[in-house]
Amino acid sequence: MSSVISSHSPDAVSQAVSVLNAGGLVGLPTETVYGLAARADLDNAVEHIFRAKGRPAGHPLILHISDISELNRYAANIPNSALQLAQHCWPGPLTLLLEKTNAVSHRVTGGRETVAIRIPANLCARKIIEQCGNAVAAPSANLFGHVSPTTAQHVLNDLGAKVDLIIDDGDCTIGVESTIVDFTTDQPQLLRPGGFPAEDLESIIGQQI
Ligand code: AMP
Ligand code: MG
Repeated sequence: MSSVISSHSPDAVSQAVSVLNAGGLVGLPTETVYGLAARADLDNAVEHIFRAKGRPAGHPLILHISDISELNRYAANIPNSALQLAQHCWPGPLTLLLEKTNAVSHRVTGGRETVAIRIPANLCARKIIEQCGNAVAAPSANLFGHVSPTTAQHVLNDLGAKVDLIIDDGDCTIGVESTIVDFTTDQPQLLRPGGFPAEDLESIIGQQI
């Protein structure tokens, strides 16, 4: 049976970090939707995400980091405009698609040489990622094809015992997925509309997306 702990509990962060470091799965609150998180450098743990969700193996996962200073560890040859968006919009509901470094496993990227990466706005999520010492891979914490969860109860209803620990931080403030922009092509491309309006991103970089 999975356990649920309030984000306000003094033990919430340390319990989540213990589960992640042991290769387990944590229901992680973010401002967009609840994520199903595993340490991204543990291939077996990442494999558990796919099994728990029933997600097809080639379907890439978004990497979540806690600070912009970690970006170079996971992404290479970052265009200036992508960096500009990261500085303006993170933490927040924007995911950047960039060239990956060797620190990112193909298990996370579905075999691709590119990585999708963001910093969530939720403070508890950022503390957990920071103390875990590695980025976490986290798709939405629902079964493949189901609606994305915006409360801890949704995660419990959908995944039950498949998730080791759920951090309950109440309702997600945004409630829709992150906007994804691909910076691996000549012109930045909008891959998925989401929490950050594309027009706002265009005016930040002065470039069409
Ligand atoms: P989610 O289902 O919210 O976890 O978001 C994952 C989505 O991010 C995927 O469905 C892709 O659209 C996109 N994505 C993540 N990583 C990559 C990648 N390496 N290449 C292309 N798209 C990616
Ligand atoms: Mg999803």
